[in-house]
Amino acid sequence: MVQINQHYLKLKAGYLFPEIGRRVTAFAQANPSAKIIRLGIGDVTEPLTPSIVAAMHAAVDEMAKRDSFKGYGPEQGYAFLREAVAQHDFQSRGVDVSADEIFISDGSKCDTGNILDIFGSDNRIAISDPVYPVYVDTNVMAGHTGPADESGRFGGLVYLVGNEANGFVPDLPTERVDMIYLCYPNNPTGTVASRETLARWVEYARQNKSLILFDAAYEAFISDPSIPHSIFEIPGAKDVAIEFRSFSKSIGFTGVRCGLTVVPKQLMGTAPGGESVSIHQLWNRRQSTKFNGASYVVQKGAAAAYTDQGKAEMRGLVDFYMTNARLLREGLGRVGIRVFGGVNAPYVWIKTPNNLGSWEFFDLLLSKANVVGTPGSGFGAAGEGYFRLSAFNSRANVEEALERIQKVL
Ligand SMILES: *Cc1c(COP(=O)(O)O)cnc(C)c1O
Repeated sequence: MVQINQHYLKLKAGYLFPEIGRRVTAFAQANPSAKIIRLGIGDVTEPLTPSIVAAMHAAVDEMAKRDSFKGYGPEQGYAFLREAVAQHDFQSRGVDVSADEIFISDGSKCDTGNILDIFGSDNRIAISDPVYPVYVDTNVMAGHTGPADESGRFGGLVYLVGNEANGFVPDLPTERVDMIYLCYPNNPTGTVASRETLARWVEYARQNKSLILFDAAYEAFISDPSIPHSIFEIPGAKDVAIEFRSFSKSIGFTGVRCGLTVVPKQLMGTAPGGESVSIHQLWNRRQSTKFNGASYVVQKGAAAAYTDQGKAEMRGLVDFYMTNARLLREGLGRVGIRVFGGVNAPYVWIKTPNNLGSWEFFDLLLSKANVVGTPGSGFGAAGEGYFRLSAFNSRANVEEALERIQKVL
């Protein structure tokens, strides 16, 4: 019989969102009249904005005519989008990233997982706890870890604990690591990293010859002008970092699918014989072999986000969700809940009241308020006793969910 990748067997069976789904389905079946409000999974709810829809319609019309039809596009993305990203997301902020350092993809979840293809299996890897589970699980799948212990922590990974004492922004590792995943603004805690914090990380990486994998999926939600949008705003970061970005949350592309990865041309890794190898070239080779580019229609839609009208529409979407976040943050604070995040990120991270466990609080909210959130423990052992609420919903649903939660507490 065919042998399987045995590392998959180490993954924890009851993965977070399926388990939430099971509990919600069971409750809904037992209580068919309950109107359940979902503030759980981080998926957007508002429709695509007009300039993006118009650009995608126009692109479909091009595809419908022989003389403007497009087949396979460049694996790295069309120049019109790579140039728009370089100019508007980086150069306009004084950040030196060029179009040929940008790789357009079908989303950054895929890229954060796929990037492991080009790295060796003996790297020491640091991951925050709590964390976006994709970073952990893709390392498990790649065979970079031992089995999980009873708290769900995998042998071989270096966990960097976020807690109330450090404001859910973990300290530097006390040991040397080769790769570090950072995500700011953070999912799940909604916290941000200051310029000083990121500068400390870049300094650590430069001194230790480590690589930072920086996930900036939520950079569009930053309103505080002192918070960096990109790791490349920190001098010296181009020698030590890769950055992932996504159109999913900023312009509602979770279903449309488009993201990008910035791999600086000067970024180098080491081969077993000690020689330096361009990581940019390896990623280009990987993408050219295993990926055939994001769809033309989708890239045209993403590029429309960089027009004046597109930018204004994106600001409108972000402001809408961030008003939801503010309502949640303030409304929960008023009933005595300790709240983190929700200022420069669309997630509100709360301490469960009365020291309830994360899943106990989940069951309480579901059964008494008919509101679904995400147990903090699902993001790592250090998330136990915390709970994530997402700002991605209609205003009416957020207001009603808040009212119901306030009554229960
Ligand atoms: C939503 C999200 C992404 C984006 O993933 P896509 O594949 O681009 O939709 C990336 N990182 C984090 C932490 C996220 O929450």
